[in-house]
Amino acid sequence: MTASGRRSGRRGGSSPGELLRLIMDGRATTRTALAEVTGLARSTIAQRLEPLVSSGLVQETETGVSTGGRPPMVLTFNRAAGVILVADIGATLVRVALTDLAGTVLARTSQELAVAAGPEIVLGEVQARFDELLAQVGRADTDVRGIGIGVPGPVEFARGVAVSPPIMPGWNDYPIPVPFAARFHAPVLVDNDVNIMALGEYERCWRDKVNDLLFVKIGTGIGAGLIVDGRIRRGAQGAAGDIGHIRVVGADHVVCPCSNVGCLEAVAGGGALARQLREHGKQAAGPAEVVDLVRQGDPDAVGLVRGAGRQLGIVLAGLVNLLNPAVIVVGGRLANVDQQLLAGVRESIYSRSLPLATRNLQIVRSQLGENAGIAGAAALVLEHLLTPDAVDARLASGGLAGVTGASAATG
Ligand SMILES: [Zn+2]
Repeated sequence: MTASGRRSGRRGGSSPGELLRLIMDGRATTRTALAEVTGLARSTIAQRLEPLVSSGLVQETETGVSTGGRPPMVLTFNRAAGVILVADIGATLVRVALTDLAGTVLARTSQELAVAAGPEIVLGEVQARFDELLAQVGRADTDVRGIGIGVPGPVEFARGVAVSPPIMPGWNDYPIPVPFAARFHAPVLVDNDVNIMALGEYERCWRDKVNDLLFVKIGTGIGAGLIVDGRIRRGAQGAAGDIGHIRVVGADHVVCPCSNVGCLEAVAGGGALARQLREHGKQAAGPAEVVDLVRQGDPDAVGLVRGAGRQLGIVLAGLVNLLNPAVIVVGGRLANVDQQLLAGVRESIYSRSLPLATRNLQIVRSQLGENAGIAGAAALVLEHLLTPDAVDARLASGGLAGVTGASAATG
């Protein structure tokens, strides 16, 4: 089908991609219902369903419920028509999962691995874990419809590369999608780890309730992901949300690894808090020990986390005034002591943001926790594959089954 055919399909009521959406949402699950909802003739419905059925994305089965006459045939989205592979690469841990086409995790694993080991080693391990998961669920390489990868650094999304990532030596401009695209002949999407967490939390927990969400990750470092009008916003180059390097007051003596002074992350990140605890003579290698000490009621740790919450809150208050989000979701390792952290965050935000912006503002802990990245990476790929525009574009360029284009630069 040509691009103009797609457009006329939409004008006529529904393109194949839009019919798929109606079926997936359960708004129309028979040919008769599709004709009623779209106003299209049954012959047109049949024509537009054909590629969806022949590709296996849509199945047509008897209901078994007969009301006299022939039992009606029901159309369902076939979530088993392929699988998605996702990897959430963190600073020291890689989480890998295999999902169906509804984003349900069918198999998962994780591995301690420093991202600083470099792209060849880390991506080689990810490939090996993908192999294991495919074997575990009895699927072949040709069943893979898309791959989503999150990495802990700034990403130029259109090219799928990390750009000058501070904690990822050897990854600058490395073509992450290439080895996966070459092997699986499927689209490979790469994004920043906080963006995929934001997307996961939004898709799984908030999509039906709000349009504007700010996700903040506070682990070793600090970053944010923005959902505006229901869509992730990456900015012009993909660097949006890097709030860890906003300067905070009263910290001009603190040098950040980015070489500036007084960065939020260098003062209030989990790494910075651990360092301050060590200066108090406490055993704290990183954010995990900070969390442990707070849970044990260590007064230094509790005070530091609450203070970090206030510093974070001051930066977030500025973002609230700028963006007016409906909800701020706080995730990352330090969200495990949300009571202490969020007390400080709320204190600063409510005293420094405009009343109208905070009137209905919710400030909550991540519900998905450590699974947010996996959920978001799957959501990223599924949006790329199954939105009406994406389905219609792939039909226009040659079909839905198997080969979905090996390019990473999918925009
Ligand atoms: Zn910095």
